[in-house]
Amino acid sequence: MTRIAENLQAVRARIAAAALAAGRLPDDVALLAVSKTWPAECVAEAAACGQRAFGENYVQEAVDKIAALAGLGLEWHFIGPIQSNKTRPLAEHFDWVHSVDRFRVAARLSAQRPVPLGPLNVCLQVNVSGEASKSGVSPADLPALAEAVAALPRLRLRGLMCIPEPTDDVALLRSRFALLRELSEATRIRGIAADTLSMGMSHDVEEAVAEGATMVRVGTAIFGERTRRPV
Ligand SMILES: *Cc1c(COP(=O)(O)O)cnc(C)c1O
Repeated sequence: MTRIAENLQAVRARIAAAALAAGRLPDDVALLAVSKTWPAECVAEAAACGQRAFGENYVQEAVDKIAALAGLGLEWHFIGPIQSNKTRPLAEHFDWVHSVDRFRVAARLSAQRPVPLGPLNVCLQVNVSGEASKSGVSPADLPALAEAVAALPRLRLRGLMCIPEPTDDVALLRSRFALLRELSEATRIRGIAADTLSMGMSHDVEEAVAEGATMVRVGTAIFGERTRRPV
């Protein structure tokens, strides 16, 4: 087995164990393999092990990989910060965007989504860490943003995403993930269908799954330490 194959198997085992420990089904937690900075060959290797969904943070790097691997039937998720003037390649090349945090970006993605592709799946990134983090909509502003985004014709609002501040404090992490779950439940109560909770990375898969994550975004534990910025 290759290193990526072994790592993938280990990450899937971690997800399954965490799900079972929380009284959940392993299949209810999807794995997004975060391939930023890693070349197309590494993605192809993971794809050969059955991994279909890949996450990318840098637009040009991602668009090149998507082109190189077209035909493998992969699903591409954009998870990085979004510049308002760089939305078009996201609308044209991705299946999901997890990091929508303002209406201006959502409106542009909707307007630029090519009709033949079907609606673009989006998650709203929420700032669950307060002062400690700058990106993401505040919990207070989330209901209005969710309502406005849900009404856009070429987007399908799928749920919420968060990136808690880096910390080794497990209780603090759990509370950040729990807040996202509560906000997601409140969003559904308001009549907005949202089935996805995108939370948890290499070091905190267990905490995120315990708090209800339906999609974990794992890079380092699959591909290894990133030693460079993207190409
Ligand atoms: C890089 C990144 C990840 C993956 O992080 P790892 O610690 O390598 O697992 C997940 N989510 C986002 C938004 C990222 O930028």
